[in-house]
Amino acid sequence: MATLAGKVVIITGAARGMGAATARLAAEAGAKVVLTDVLTEGERTAKLIGDSARFIQQDVTDPAQWERVVDFTLARFGSITGLVNNAGITVNTLFENDTLESFEKVLKVNLVGVFLGMKSVIPAMQTAGGGSIVNISSAAGLTGMPLTSGYGASNWGVRGLSKVVALELGASGIRVNSVHPGMVFTPTTANTVREGHGGFPLSALGRAGRPEEVARATVFLLSDESSYVTGAELAVDGAWTAGQITLLQFAKQ
Ligand code: NAD
Repeated sequence: MATLAGKVVIITGAARGMGAATARLAAEAGAKVVLTDVLTEGERTAKLIGDSARFIQQDVTDPAQWERVVDFTLARFGSITGLVNNAGITVNTLFENDTLESFEKVLKVNLVGVFLGMKSVIPAMQTAGGGSIVNISSAAGLTGMPLTSGYGASNWGVRGLSKVVALELGASGIRVNSVHPGMVFTPTTANTVREGHGGFPLSALGRAGRPEEVARATVFLLSDESSYVTGAELAVDGAWTAGQITLLQFAKQ
């Protein structure tokens, strides 16, 4: 795995799931990591990682709490060179049943949270001479998916915003990329994955992904191994978005 020695990385939504796996692997790769989450169980996740990890409670939609996270990180570890905007919520509903309140809530966490995160860390990254921002979007940010009006819109937004900031901040040595996981086994998707999807046609590999499989892609993007990768989108989805995988099911019947 790529090295993150000397890097200081903030990871949002890191109490559990993919964020926790990313924090663990980033620390194993040598980074100092600051885990944030609305859930206080992030404290325990950070303790399990060890001395290179700290937790601070945070709601990513609150600008004042972002200021606290930046101050906390600089006070503990002296710089900020990485940010993983991983916190997110999912609402699955038909568009005709979606409400303005729910739509706005999803956009606020999944898209405005990413906007605030990038804005908050950029000055510290500029001071550090550069950095890497990884925005966790979704396969639903690469293609249209039923039942994901707010979720899909927010994740398409994250993908677009990542490219804009990559273009504007490349000269400061700040890289910005988006990662697009497919169906990954985490607390959020446990039921969906367990119930399966008739032989799991959501992946050419015939299975859901593991949080570590996405985390390893994120660690690569945080590291200097990806020094010329910016403004890119990386699908980690077992070819879910590569094409019409369900047609194969018909051919095999
Ligand atoms: P998860 O629910 O296990 O973890 C998300 C974390 O974000 C939770 O710990 C939650 O408390 C935190 N969070 C939610 N709202 C927050 C807020 N306002 N402020 C701070 N923290 C907040 O989910 P996961 O499956 O590990 O997903 C991680 C990210 O990957 C999410 O953005 C999700 O949309 C995305 N994603 C997941 C999958 C999947 O199959 N699991 C697929 C594609 C994309």
